[in-house]
Amino acid sequence: MSSQNDGIMVILSSPSGAGKTTLVRLLSEKKNFNISISHTTRKPRSHEVNGKDYHFIDNKKFENLIKGNEFLEYAKVFNNFYGTSKKPVLELLKSGKNVIFDIDWQGTKQIKSQNINYKIITFFVLPPSKEILFERLSNRDMKDKLIASERMKDFYNDVKHWVDYDFVVINDDLNDCYNEISGLIDNQLGFTQSKNVYDLENIKNHINKLSN
Ligand code: 5GP
Repeated sequence: MSSQNDGIMVILSSPSGAGKTTLVRLLSEKKNFNISISHTTRKPRSHEVNGKDYHFIDNKKFENLIKGNEFLEYAKVFNNFYGTSKKPVLELLKSGKNVIFDIDWQGTKQIKSQNINYKIITFFVLPPSKEILFERLSNRDMKDKLIASERMKDFYNDVKHWVDYDFVVINDDLNDCYNEISGLIDNQLGFTQSKNVYDLENIKNHINKLSN
């Protein structure tokens, strides 16, 4: 059974380019959430630090972690494996610390299906428009535009999974989006009782516009 003193789990997912990583950082800094650091078989990007952004491991090690039942969830995303290790997360939650996860819809489904004894709040972050998403995904040259076109196809598939989330938020202005997420978390935890903070009809209209 979870108790008042247990931590909570907050999951943020989004199609690529919606600005989720910055939101996760803000939630960690301003609300004192611990970020769950995933394992991945993806190669580090130039600015990324092993043990801070991800635990970068090879396929063999990843397989061993699967066999050892060490993952709370894992999934293949864009041809690489990503997984959340169970032990550090459960230890944090048990000691009353809140944990934030930047994982995709597959991992979110797996975590939700496990009936974990901690409160879970899930958010799906969307871009303000298709045009702005395309701009965020592409740079100046033609090669980037081609990659961005491919990513847009992934976007149309990813966006369908919004229905699996507690809340969908639109990341137009970063601070507004952070404040909305923060308010919804406080509301869910019973710290505030504001009404009409979440407009599902508006979200549905937005998703229709993004999907067509
Ligand atoms: P990136 O390679 O750009 O850092 O992340 C690619 C995608 O993998 C993002 O959608 C991110 O949320 C997702 N991801 C990162 N870590 C995990 C994880 O541990 N599990 C799952 N299921 N997805 C993850």
